[in-house]
Amino acid sequence: MVVVIHAGAGSLSDDLREREVECRVALEAALASAATALRDGADAVAATRCAVVEMESFPLFNAGYGAALCSDGTVEMSAALMRGPDQGAGAVAAVTRTRHPILAAEALLEAEQVLLIGERADAYAAAHGAEQWEPSRFVTERQLRRLHEHLALHEHGTVGAVCLDSTGALAAATSTGGRTGQPPGRVGDTPLIGAGTWADAHVAVSCTGEGEAFIRAGAARLLAALVERGVDLGAAADTVLEEVARCGGRGGLIAVNARGEVAMPFSTPAMQRGVWRERGGVVVEERSER
Ligand code: ASP
Repeated sequence: MVVVIHAGAGSLSDDLREREVECRVALEAALASAATALRDGADAVAATRCAVVEMESFPLFNAGYGAALCSDGTVEMSAALMRGPDQGAGAVAAVTRTRHPILAAEALLEAEQVLLIGERADAYAAAHGAEQWEPSRFVTERQLRRLHEHLALHEHGTVGAVCLDSTGALAAATSTGGRTGQPPGRVGDTPLIGAGTWADAHVAVSCTGEGEAFIRAGAARLLAALVERGVDLGAAADTVLEEVARCGGRGGLIAVNARGEVAMPFSTPAMQRGVWRERGGVVVEERSER
């Protein structure tokens, strides 16, 4: 069993550097939550959901409470969850009330529709028991400051998780507030199946970075196509980031294949990442910068 998480590719702002320990604890809590679920018999979908819910609760990550603000100071969040064995997919975009957008995405796994947007997506989530908040409650002082200081262009902070469970099933989940200062209505790669999120029988992937380039590159599905053709996971992941660069963007991704191999490259100055592997019982947490 393997769980890999990310908390966004970008450059680390000064306040994130200062609060590095808190970020590390939040990443470890997300891995622990997924690992506990797996040990209790949960599947890959539930494990990725557990990890993402944990990260959506942490205000320094750009998902759920603490999400990045649009140019008008509002929060619009997106999330996707994909189940590898049957390629079941659920996603929401521009939700403003759902406390954990990943729960809305998970609820859609059982629906005929794959992607719901806006108020209707919030209503769907509420009808499936997902907690709702007043939109203003998602706005943190930190994100207001960031919006006013226009620091946004360089910091990301989306969260994601991929998992291989004990049955060999894969799943991928991603959740974001988008990019600080984005125009209301803008949707990035995160909730677009095949762009920011993908899982099938061979590989699960969650992307982060400049969403428009990931969309144009068809990034997550491109990785799956390369893996299916027999390309080594690490090489495939690097190729995807090259293609994203060719489409004018930078970022990173986390991926795990059916053999439990992991790739987590990034082309930005930093990406917060963590890995948990059952074998050896070790929790590895990484917060890399180059
Ligand atoms: N990819 C996300 C988006 O474009 C942002 C991020 O990963 O930080 O909305």
